[in-house]
Amino acid sequence: MAERESIGFVGTGIMGAPMARNLAKAGFQVTAYNRTAAKAEALREHGVAVAGSLAEVARSASVVITMVPDTPDALAVVEGEGGLAEAMAPGSALVDMSTISPGETRALAERLAGRGVAMLDAPVSGGSWGAEQGTLTIMAGGERETFERCMPVFEAMGKTITLMGPSGMGQTTKLVNQILVAGTCAAVAEALVFAASQGADLLRTIEAVSGGAAGSWQLANLGPRMARRDFAPGFMVKLQQKDLRLILEAAQERHTPLAITSLARQYLTAVEAMGLGDEGTQAVVKAVEALAGVEARQEGGAD
Ligand code: NAP
Repeated sequence: MAERESIGFVGTGIMGAPMARNLAKAGFQVTAYNRTAAKAEALREHGVAVAGSLAEVARSASVVITMVPDTPDALAVVEGEGGLAEAMAPGSALVDMSTISPGETRALAERLAGRGVAMLDAPVSGGSWGAEQGTLTIMAGGERETFERCMPVFEAMGKTITLMGPSGMGQTTKLVNQILVAGTCAAVAEALVFAASQGADLLRTIEAVSGGAAGSWQLANLGPRMARRDFAPGFMVKLQQKDLRLILEAAQERHTPLAITSLARQYLTAVEAMGLGDEGTQAVVKAVEALAGVEARQEGGAD
């Protein structure tokens, strides 16, 4: 049997922390690093070792996973001064599970190949709940050999794991996912504001329509949170805006119009203008409410 990979994990935020915990739970030796050290320290009680630098993570691991917010962050942790690339051994693999630019991903993979380091892009969907449960959807791009090598690592964190094609294709698939997520979330917000304006019971409405053609993860999970005024982030507005920017930039390059996605982005821009970029994406309802002058708030409960 092949030797078990030792895992380095960089970026233990909302998603990274539970992903690293699940890797340790599955028996991998995991060494984590986070810019704000306290977030990595909290993982010690779950059997995760904590490194004091990126170089230390790189030296400890045969596979290094990054889970940071945006393209400049991923490039900084990999290629910045004292970054991972300088210290990763030839033959090791970098797996970027953040959502970043497909084009920058391809360029980074090429540069790393020059150092003898294989790279996969393997962004995820399923939210913080999926990260906690180890049920993430993982969409990978890169060489099949590296993908197969990393399969046991992915299986500790996710359920639906697909190699989509060459480098960058995992990120492209994730952007497709985000078109669907952002448009659906905005539609849920409009549906609930309309329902509220008509005097409907919101939770009962969600329940009634969820089993039919209108059902979706966004409706089932974020609809009730909108109605109950729970705006704690599973996925922050500011990160969704980053994804929508990546989508619209890629679409513009090929002159692909995305009207619904653009509208969802404008709603979220209004939410950011309210100073609420750190709230969960369900806060999109606040933009619709501001325009309508109606709150989608559940009064009482369905009996
Ligand atoms: P998050 O909670 O903000 O975590 C990001 C982590 O990266 C933080 O621990 C942060 O450290 C670290 N970091 C940020 N910038 C860095 C830098 N320049 N150098 C080093 N470390 C840095 O975000 P998240 O929700 O886990 O999202 C992470 C990625 O997953 C994003 O690309 C997001 O789009 C994607 N994603 C998120 C979800 C979701 O539901 N949340 C779902 C699918 C995909 P500090 O503690 O110092 O800030």
